[in-house]
Amino acid sequence: MLASTEARGAEPGPMVPAPFVLRAKRRDTADTWTLELQPREGGRLAFAPGQFTMLSAFGTGEVPISISGDPNGEGPLVHTVRAVGLATRAICDARPGDVLGVRGPFGGPWPVEDLAGSDVLIVAGGIGLAPLRPAVLALLARRERYGRLVLLYGGRSPDQLLYAEELKAWSERGLQVAVTVDSAGPEWLGHVGVVPRLVRHARFDPARTVALLCGPEVMMRFAVSALAQSGVESDRVYTSMERNMQCAIGHCGHCQLGPTLVCRDGAVYPWSALARWLAIREL
Ligand SMILES: Cc1cc2nc3c(=O)[nH]c(=O)nc-3n(C[C@H](O)[C@H](O)[C@H](O)COP(=O)(O)OP(=O)(O)OC[C@H]3O[C@@H](n4cnc5c(N)ncnc54)[C@H](O)[C@@H]3O)c2cc1C
Repeated sequence: MLASTEARGAEPGPMVPAPFVLRAKRRDTADTWTLELQPREGGRLAFAPGQFTMLSAFGTGEVPISISGDPNGEGPLVHTVRAVGLATRAICDARPGDVLGVRGPFGGPWPVEDLAGSDVLIVAGGIGLAPLRPAVLALLARRERYGRLVLLYGGRSPDQLLYAEELKAWSERGLQVAVTVDSAGPEWLGHVGVVPRLVRHARFDPARTVALLCGPEVMMRFAVSALAQSGVESDRVYTSMERNMQCAIGHCGHCQLGPTLVCRDGAVYPWSALARWLAIREL
């Protein structure tokens, strides 16, 4: 289909996956891999922090995956993928040289461009750090524009944490980093407990803070409430929502959440725009 569309000289539509070659992969945790992809036909996929693509291993399915690479760089398309089911397992099993399908990028950005002069508090749980990594890199690339930059990150155990080496490098570049795990052995000298508990230890000025959140919904609810107790209201809290998605262009309705379609209107939203709908069970 792609070949015949190109033969007619037309642009392939947004439903047609482009072939990307897997150039390199790195194992982050037992079930999570970071993949570097390049368009088979050359060029680079430009994107904004917070956008996602529809990624497919041919014959297994297509899934929304956030872009976790550097939005400022000229490098490859980077995705960090947790193998939880048929499609994500096949994507993580791909080997360098294999071809994966990519549609997108889709969705709106974290509001990084609007945060000059603000303190920025990033709160991530588990794989939720992947969609936030491009925002961290964009903020650090222009560090002087912002006030305090804080990352609060939690995982189930120390071996579940993503980007461990990078966390150190980020803290040397001016990001306050606090990491916590749900449980750990005696070799772990850091915090133990859930991420929202770190909020009260972090140093930021609530009156000029914007928070970016991504992780399991329960973690985000508790983080929003901890932030409110610290004086950061929910209209200054942004989150990236995960919903079952198929078309990613606002046609199929699979990702509907109340009056909004996550693929078209999100996946990044101000928490205040969603709170009413998230309060309804199973919506
Ligand atoms: C906007 C957006 C961005 C996303 N970004 C990322 C990303 O950067 N990295 C990433 O790894 N995933 C990301 N996801 C989640 C990813 O799309 C799903 O994990 C994927 O669709 C699962 O498809 P599958 O066919 O592999 O599994 P399925 O066969 O659909 O599911 C297999 C089993 O895993 C369970 N499952 C499905 N999703 C998850 C999940 N997220 N966590 C735990 N269990 C799950 C299902 O309930 C089912 O029991 C994102 C989702 C959205 C909507």
